[in-house]
Amino acid sequence: MEWKNRADAVIIGGGIIGASTAYYLAKNGMKNIVLLEKDTICGGSTGRCGAGIRAQWGTEMNCRLGVAALDIFEQLDQELGMDIGLNQGGYLLVAYTPEEVETLRRGMVLQNSLGIESRMVTLSEARKICPGLAADDALAFFFHARDGHADPFLTTFAYMEAAKRLGVRCFRHTACTGILVEDNTVRGVLTDKGEILAPLVINCAGAYAQFIAKMAGIDLPNWGERHEIMITEPVAPGVCPCMLMSFSGNYYIQQRPHGSIICGMSPEGHPEDYEMKTTWQFIEAMSAILARLLPRTRGIRIARHWSGMYDMTPDAQPIIGETDVKNFYHSTGYSGHGFMLAPVAGKILAQHLTGQRPDIDFSMLDYRRFARGEHIRESNVV
Ligand SMILES: Cc1cc2nc3c(=O)[nH]c(=O)nc-3n(C[C@H](O)[C@H](O)[C@H](O)COP(=O)(O)OP(=O)(O)OC[C@H]3O[C@@H](n4cnc5c(N)ncnc54)[C@H](O)[C@@H]3O)c2cc1C
Repeated sequence: MEWKNRADAVIIGGGIIGASTAYYLAKNGMKNIVLLEKDTICGGSTGRCGAGIRAQWGTEMNCRLGVAALDIFEQLDQELGMDIGLNQGGYLLVAYTPEEVETLRRGMVLQNSLGIESRMVTLSEARKICPGLAADDALAFFFHARDGHADPFLTTFAYMEAAKRLGVRCFRHTACTGILVEDNTVRGVLTDKGEILAPLVINCAGAYAQFIAKMAGIDLPNWGERHEIMITEPVAPGVCPCMLMSFSGNYYIQQRPHGSIICGMSPEGHPEDYEMKTTWQFIEAMSAILARLLPRTRGIRIARHWSGMYDMTPDAQPIIGETDVKNFYHSTGYSGHGFMLAPVAGKILAQHLTGQRPDIDFSMLDYRRFARGEHIRESNVV
């Protein structure tokens, strides 16, 4: 593709956040958009994630974002003209302590007040939803049928292809190496292929976003946190058709439509860690949880095991908005829920940048909240 050294907007990062932002900006009429990806589209966290989608959250902001994203996911195939592999088997949340039951119950009341039809279910109902389940030690279960998962590759490619049809130019294997700033205003980017002058730059670089921000002298309190995840060989369907998740139990497990079971858990202590290695400790701990919760999985083989990065912030909530450098925007810090929020995150930022009123006011996701000590307390995260 022919290199152009001028653009109306440059987006850094070809994961789901960059792709959806590019698509909605172009859909809203912005011309001459360039997306830069240092490796391949979907080669970062997006292509390594569990791809769960849910609206069962504990804060009003996340509930609103979650259900708005679900609304988009449910019609995204038609909108983008490509299959995104959406599967709505629901999320079954498992509580193990009285405090957790109360937290999830409060979350359910909040969700219901916002039109999210989550409900508390008994163990026998939970077993109908998840036939392989043996969670006799659990105290309560909460379920929302519209939750589920989509294919992260198909979804990102669908956004990217639709964006390209609208004129977005995507340069793969092109790294942003500097941010051009003059009079405290962004003027463009430097890359390993040359410079691009642009009046708007959006940092969607996932777990590397803080390094990009630093190029313009902005300190983001983000860090990369390595998370391991594994997938089993395919087994008979119906073992765990919903996403089974517990915050205190530290697991998420789901059977894909073709039979494989995908599952993960958080590393102890949540350390900063950019090394994409895998460990035996994870295999052992995760397999023990699988065998205990879903006894039918005993003896099945692990097909693949990999790691990827959560792009963490101090409150595990995203940063969306402009920084102290004018027209240098960020959409980053999505922790373990950037895939599910991407459709709405891209849409509302694009609305803001093209002079429309965003469907959801995202001003509270401003990165200055950390300096002000205004952390968003979300309980429903693994
Ligand atoms: C194991 C695991 C499980 C997860 N499960 C879920 C889940 O179930 N549901 C959910 O919603 N989320 C989940 N997540 C989180 C989710 O993957 C992320 O929040 C989401 O993918 C973030 O998307 P992104 O586009 O911001 O980042 P990425 O997909 O990482 O994209 C950023 C891109 O920026 C590129 N880049 C970086 N630096 C530069 C540069 N200098 N120049 C050019 N390009 C650059 C990178 O190469 C990368 O491709 C999970 C994550 C992991 C690791």
